[in-house]
Amino acid sequence: MMQVAVGTTAVMASQAMAQAKVDEKDPQAVALGYLADTTKVDAKKFPKHAAAQKCSNCQLYTGKATDANGGCALFAGKLVAGNGWCSAYVKKA
Ligand code: SF4
Repeated sequence: MMQVAVGTTAVMASQAMAQAKVDEKDPQAVALGYLADTTKVDAKKFPKHAAAQKCSNCQLYTGKATDANGGCALFAGKLVAGNGWCSAYVKKA
């Protein structure tokens, strides 16, 4: 019985995490230069960034292009902003 209860708690925790947005201060987000607003990206630090680049048109975004937030292959279990950006951006084919 205990194992079932623990398993259920783990599932609930992972579901709660699935709703969590990526924190810009999260170490992985910092490492990738992730920001929730693509217009705030530092052009000096990321010269290849362009204003038209954002999570919602990135190959790694798993949400719909119109979603305000969606999943990203690099941030498992969390949501990135559709208007966000990181240095791993790959234009959707
Ligand atoms: S990989 Fe793409 S979808 Fe994921 S955070 Fe970076 S720009 Fe956004």
